Amino acid sequence: MDLKAEVEALRQRLEELNHAYYVLDSPRASDGEYDELFRRLERLEHEHPEFASLTSPTQKVGAAPLSAFASVKHREPMLSLANALNDDDIRDFHARILKLLGDDMDVAYSFEPKIDGIGLGLTYEHGELTLAATRGDGTKGEDITANARTISSIPLRLKNEGYPIPDFIEIRGEVFTTTHAFEEFNSKRTEEEGRYANPRNFTGGSLRQLDSRITAARPLDAVFYACGEAKGLEVRSQEELIRAFQSWGLKVATPYFKIIGTVEGLIAAHHELEDARDQVPYEIDGTVLKVNDFEQRQILGSRSRNPRWAIACKFKSRQASTTLLDIEISVGRTGALTPVAVLEPVPLGGVTVGSASLHNVDEIARLGVKKGDRVLVERAGDVIPKVVKVLTEERDGSEIEFQMPKECPACGTPVVKEADEVVMRCTNASCPAQLRGTVAHFVSKNALDIDGLGEKLVAQLVDAGLVKRLDDIFRLQYDDVVALERMGKTSTENLLTAIDTAKTTTLPRVFFGLGIRHVGEHVAEVVAQSLGSLGALLDATEDDLVAIHEVGEKAAESIVAFVANEQNKLVIKALLDLGLNATCEAQSTGGPLAGMTFVITGTLPTLSRKDAENLIKKHGGKPVSSVSKKTSFLLAGEKAGSKLKKAESLGVEIIDESQIYSMVGDAPQ
Ligand SMILES: [Zn+2]
Repeated sequence: MDLKAEVEALRQRLEELNHAYYVLDSPRASDGEYDELFRRLERLEHEHPEFASLTSPTQKVGAAPLSAFASVKHREPMLSLANALNDDDIRDFHARILKLLGDDMDVAYSFEPKIDGIGLGLTYEHGELTLAATRGDGTKGEDITANARTISSIPLRLKNEGYPIPDFIEIRGEVFTTTHAFEEFNSKRTEEEGRYANPRNFTGGSLRQLDSRITAARPLDAVFYACGEAKGLEVRSQEELIRAFQSWGLKVATPYFKIIGTVEGLIAAHHELEDARDQVPYEIDGTVLKVNDFEQRQILGSRSRNPRWAIACKFKSRQASTTLLDIEISVGRTGALTPVAVLEPVPLGGVTVGSASLHNVDEIARLGVKKGDRVLVERAGDVIPKVVKVLTEERDGSEIEFQMPKECPACGTPVVKEADEVVMRCTNASCPAQLRGTVAHFVSKNALDIDGLGEKLVAQLVDAGLVKRLDDIFRLQYDDVVALERMGKTSTENLLTAIDTAKTTTLPRVFFGLGIRHVGEHVAEVVAQSLGSLGALLDATEDDLVAIHEVGEKAAESIVAFVANEQNKLVIKALLDLGLNATCEAQSTGGPLAGMTFVITGTLPTLSRKDAENLIKKHGGKPVSSVSKKTSFLLAGEKAGSKLKKAESLGVEIIDESQIYSMVGDAPQ
């Protein structure tokens, strides 16, 4: 077999296996077997770039990050559907259709679940995926092709088995995440990384990643149920369209899709699915009814914004009434004070609900909720239930007005409320409720970068009471550390050496590590350049700080509030006493890269993006983010995309990792 034929055979085999696994949910090969085929294909494509193809299964792992999503105008608008809120609305819908088509017409409807996901349109030209766009406002969406390619159940080429593949077709559907996959993902996230409120937010957030490699790692799924513009499509009904989709390897809403001939049948099916909604593996918020026959749809046409032949029937939200026993304040790892309603446990949508978030003080005021109130609680897709309404008619006068505390319940520090924020915060970096988070941040890679001190060990140190404040890190004793679970002689020695080395860290890292709100790495760097020492932070005023180029009012205010906190002041003084000899790297004026600017793109063989930037900075160069005529060099790695093209067109010199090493006279480590 020649190579080209082998590449094609591998692709077809992998496509079949993907389809079996992700669309049909019936795996046909072991993971090992799949990996072997995948790696073989990857190697052949790498060795023979002339065979590269965007529709190859190897493209499913993601590509180089984009700088922004392009806007896409839909060739046919993605209309929204009119809503039915009760059974009579469904009967009215049917009656209107009969009136327009004639009473003697036979009308059948397709019945589908309404998935609570993100609307998507896929354009296939001659069976190959060429564009994926979000629904957006229905007229214009975003080009998320690179991300859609990574979704396992989206075929990059349509299967040519069964219905003829149209020359051009825009296939519409919904991207979603199963409840199970969502919960699994969320449970593994740390609070710093942020958890998603519900599967829909998660799906949206995952689809809007500029780096499609991140999307590739997310458990997204998609089903399809409609088409936009199509040339050469030979189907005459929704039922046939769904069958055609299936024959092309696309996932459809089985086993819920049905054709139903009577309006009472539709109503019954709607309620049946509503009752079973917790058994559906993904979030659904209603059902969609469409006239099955395309010719009848043609006659019915559309009003300005909705087609007359379809309707979305909403489910009732999952609500229950219960008593709000108390309001507790939880202090998050970022210091935010969140009021939480303690409820008399009540069953709701398959789980027992015993607490609900009240979000913030404004929300409490909006609800007018008091302790002891009867309240209506709702779970609307969200994992965490919320209080939607106070049943004021059930009050008996014993209810107690709630006041947000003026002090942090965990440490007693007065809480701060920023002018344009509704959230109250504890700004004490040594607050016990936040300590694990603040310490983990303090020692993290971009801050003090203490090797071997990960989140788990930080938690152990905090829980054992060895670290009560940030500066306690530098007071750790061998005997205490070695006594911790999973710590041996060598690991303890290594850790203490790493901590000692960290005393000579740089000032920007310390400023960033303190975890002051609105002080990211960049602000930390410019503040450090300007102040020059850690001690100077204690005396800096808001005016001093705002005067620094690129420091905004928010950051300045936040820094001053941080230092004003007595506990934080103690930490800074203690760090100085302990000999934390942080200096600010003078802005390099010399070095082999002085005066040169670099744009980095693609994946470098050994250096991470951050390490490459640091290497350039260390030798006097300046990393910048976009390519222009003034750019000195483009440092390009594998899978470089638009930046590489731009650099080529502007005549910017392109170098690889080995060249940057030889420019700085440094060998890779
Ligand atoms: Zn506190």
